[in-house]
Amino acid sequence: MQEPTCIIALDQGTTSARALAFDKQGRLLGIAQRTFTQYFPAANCVEHDALEIWDTQWAVFQQLIRQLGVAPSQIAALGITNQRETTLLWDKKTGEPLHRALVWQDKRTAEHCERLKAQGLNPYIREKTGLVLDAYFSATKLAWLLDNIPNARSRAERGELCFGTIDTWLLWKLTKGAIHATDYTNASRTMLFDIHQLQWDAQLLEIFQIPPEVLPQVYTSMHHFGDLAYDGSNIPITGIAGDQQAALFGQGCWEAGTAKNTYGTGCFMLMHTGEQAVRSTQGLITTLACSTGAKPQYALEGSIFIAGAAIQWLRDGLHLIDEAADSAYFAHKAPEDHGVYVVPAFAGLGAPYWDSYAKGAIFGLGRETGKEVLIRATLESLAYQTKDVLLAMEIDAHTPLQMLRVDGGACANDLLMQFQADLLNTPVERPAMIESTAAGAAYLAGLQVGFWNLAQLRQNRDIDRIFSPKMSEATRHQRYQGWQEAIRRTMGWASKR
Ligand code: ADP
Repeated sequence: MQEPTCIIALDQGTTSARALAFDKQGRLLGIAQRTFTQYFPAANCVEHDALEIWDTQWAVFQQLIRQLGVAPSQIAALGITNQRETTLLWDKKTGEPLHRALVWQDKRTAEHCERLKAQGLNPYIREKTGLVLDAYFSATKLAWLLDNIPNARSRAERGELCFGTIDTWLLWKLTKGAIHATDYTNASRTMLFDIHQLQWDAQLLEIFQIPPEVLPQVYTSMHHFGDLAYDGSNIPITGIAGDQQAALFGQGCWEAGTAKNTYGTGCFMLMHTGEQAVRSTQGLITTLACSTGAKPQYALEGSIFIAGAAIQWLRDGLHLIDEAADSAYFAHKAPEDHGVYVVPAFAGLGAPYWDSYAKGAIFGLGRETGKEVLIRATLESLAYQTKDVLLAMEIDAHTPLQMLRVDGGACANDLLMQFQADLLNTPVERPAMIESTAAGAAYLAGLQVGFWNLAQLRQNRDIDRIFSPKMSEATRHQRYQGWQEAIRRTMGWASKR
């Protein structure tokens, strides 16, 4: 038996399965990654093959072990982090999925949500789950599966079926069907879970007509969920969290008032609110965060639909740049006081506006406006949208932000990060290791088995760069006013046409 030397995180994302290993110092030892198929069977429908998800996840786990040359006994524990809300139903006996998983982006149940809204159920759902009644979350997806697969409902009532988000599916597969469980962070995205009482809510099950027999057990994110029997060793599975909550934890946001923003295709911003479940008056979601103690901890969450996707639009739609990273080069050539605003409301506006009729627009064009300015203004739109969400969070949480921690592909852009710090008048901290999601799952798993402690994790955290605000108050005010005016003029646009 060799000494444990690493923790492995299984990072099951929307487009790929990854496995990452971390050593005692929290350093990344290696990554293996495989993409899997996206299915679009009809308009508004997005599906994943759960067996392919399992196959790719298992393949990258084995690939990573081979790459690193570690013995199974050297793996102290496994953590799981996953795309949230994606919904699966499988046969308890055979392990066969009954249908492809309905992915979080899938909107086929929008009408179901509208019907429930018309019945006035939004306030109850918001109070119990912290969420807004939307097809994005699992409840109506699960109801759809039960209604549309022949005999599913009666079989579910007889206890023959298991429901799970993807963490639950992976855990079930890793433990060869022994454990049917999830963690608080994933449960809090199902729209069936009372985030205050920490249990499945009987009335919600009634509302969505979900037989309780299909539900997994729910535990805190740091918990000994089960073991993977692998090559003569039993590797404990001791950390599970949904991707955004894992990233919050991986960024070291462990106390009330700390926040992180992930700049990916969209932006996902979460602010830790400690043991208080803050009810948002500003269009944000209240959700469970990972906690290391017995008491539950909460976060406020705001999503921006189009962030890095706006840079993709510059590249693939307008052909103004060859690669996303080139955006910084051109933006540097534009004057800072260009006066142009790009509102990338390509999919309506998310938090805090929630306007599905808003459309994208460009304001302030002149004869002199060149591509450099367009590129700069598009980059700046990521920062403006982030400020909108952060202001909402500060109002809800009554806490001014001390520092914004960042990750995701577009946080590599220095010009954007500097502008973000300027606009927020708050320092922006970019960690050296930006694999925050996987790190979060690994931290949870390692803490549970005593591989490291919080003080060590805090000490291990290396900063790549802190961007300090440099902009004058007057400029900041004037720029942000211009943005708010631009937003005002895009709202409701599609409904008027
Ligand atoms: P996701 O996980 O959502 O696929 P990533 O975290 O991998 O996203 O980030 C990719 C996104 O970041 C893309 O939308 C891309 O346009 C954007 N991006 C990547 N690098 C840069 C950069 N240097 N400047 C601006 N945007 C960037």
